[in-house]
Amino acid sequence: MKAEIISIGTELLLGQIADTNAPYLASELPLLGIDLYWITQVGDNRNRLVDALKRAYDRSDIIIATGGLGPTEDDVTREAIAELLGEEMGVDPELEQWLRGMFQKIGYEMPERNVKQANLIPSARAIPNLQGTAPGWWVEHEGKLILAMPGPPGEMKQMWEKEIRPKLKQKLSGEVIISRTIKTLGLTEAKVDEMVSPLLTSTNPTLAVYAKLDGIQLRLTAKDRERAKAKELIAQAEERLQNILGWAIWGYDEDTLEDLVGAMLREKGLSLATMESCSGGLLASTITDVPGSSDYFKGGLVAYSAQMKTAFGVDAALLARQGTVDPEVAAAMAQAVRLRLEADIGIGITGIAGPAEVEEKPVGTVHIAIDAEGKRGSLSVLYPPRRHEIKRRAVFSALFKLRQFLLDWE
Ligand code: ATP
Ligand code: MG
Repeated sequence: MKAEIISIGTELLLGQIADTNAPYLASELPLLGIDLYWITQVGDNRNRLVDALKRAYDRSDIIIATGGLGPTEDDVTREAIAELLGEEMGVDPELEQWLRGMFQKIGYEMPERNVKQANLIPSARAIPNLQGTAPGWWVEHEGKLILAMPGPPGEMKQMWEKEIRPKLKQKLSGEVIISRTIKTLGLTEAKVDEMVSPLLTSTNPTLAVYAKLDGIQLRLTAKDRERAKAKELIAQAEERLQNILGWAIWGYDEDTLEDLVGAMLREKGLSLATMESCSGGLLASTITDVPGSSDYFKGGLVAYSAQMKTAFGVDAALLARQGTVDPEVAAAMAQAVRLRLEADIGIGITGIAGPAEVEEKPVGTVHIAIDAEGKRGSLSVLYPPRRHEIKRRAVFSALFKLRQFLLDWE
C-alpha cells in the first residue's frame, strides 16, 4: 500500500504556518502497515491542487489530504477531488440537515455559504467532524482511496483517530510495521555508521541512523503480516546492535536521559546537586522536567561569573591559575556544590558556548565533572561552535556521564 499525503493551504507555502498535519499522519501510517512515499504541499489553488491530486492518484493507492474543506471561496478541496474523478458534486440533503443542526446547537443561523460543506460526489461518503463543521470525505474510486480531512490540527486529529483510523485498520488488515529506536551518545554519526554497516544493507528490518542533539539514534523497522514475527525480527537485530554498540547505548524509543538518571538516583537513594557555568541552569532545568525530581535533586547553582564560583566554594587561586574553562575547575565546582548542599553527588559544568573565545580556548570546549565521596568522573568535549546546541549538548553529555557513573556505583 503506497500512500501520499497532501497538505493544502497557501499559508504553508508562504511559511506562515508549519505543516504539523503531515508529520502527525506520517507517524501514524507505519502502525497501519502503510508505506508513505510522498508528502506534497500545495496552495489553495484549484488547478494546482487538481494537478497534485492527479499525480498522487497515478502513483499512490491512498491519498490523504488535509485542509481546504472550509466554507470559503478559497477552500477548494472538494471541487478538486470531484474534478479529478470527473464526478458531479451535489448537496446531500441529509448532510445539509446535519450541518444546520450543528449551527443550531451553537446558537447561530447557518450562513448560506456553509451549504457548500454538505456537498458530496457519488464516490464520497461524509466523515463526521466532532469538533468543527467541515465534514471529511472518504472516497473510493477504481480501487484507490482518497481521504480528505479539515486543516485545523485538532479537528484533523480527532477525525483521524475516531473515524478514519479504525475504518482503515479494518480495510487493510495487511502488514504491520514495527519500529524500535536505539539511542546512543559518545560516538560520532560516521563512527556509528561504520560500526553498524553490516546491518545497513538489511531490508527487513531496515536500519537508519540519525544524528540528534542527545546523540546518534538508530531506528530499526520491521514488516510482516504477523505482529509477532515483526517483533521477532526487531529483537534479533536489536541484540546484534547491542553487541556492536555496547556502552554507547543509553536508551530506547521514548526514553530520555533525565528520566533514566532520575530513576537510578531514586533507586539508589542518592541525592544530586549541580553547579553550572556555560549551560546557564539548563542542566537543573532538564533534571526538574521529571515529575518527582525533588526527591533526589537538591538544587543547582548558576555560577556564571568567577565571583559566583568563589562565593560558593571554588578556590580563587585555582581560578586565577587555570582560568574558568578548565577540567580542574569543573571538578572543584562539582565538589563545592556537593559539600555546600550536602548532596551525595555534585556535577560541575564549565565551557564556552561562544560566539567569542574565552581564555584562548576554542568555542565548544566543555568540561564536565562528577564528584562523590571517594569517587570522581570527568568528561571533556569539543562541540561544533553553535551556542544553543553547545548548551544542550553539554547537558546531555553531563546526564550521560552521570548515568555511567551511577552504573558503576557499588
Ligand atoms: P476551516 O473550516 O477552518 O477553513 P479547512 O479545512 O478549510 O478548515 P484550512 O482553511 O486549509 O482548513 O486551514 C485552517 C487552519 O488550519 C489554518 O489556518 C491553519 O491554522 C490550520 N492548518 C491547516 N493545515 C495545516 C497543516 N497542514 N498543519 C498545521 N496546521 C494547519
Ligand atoms: Mg479554510
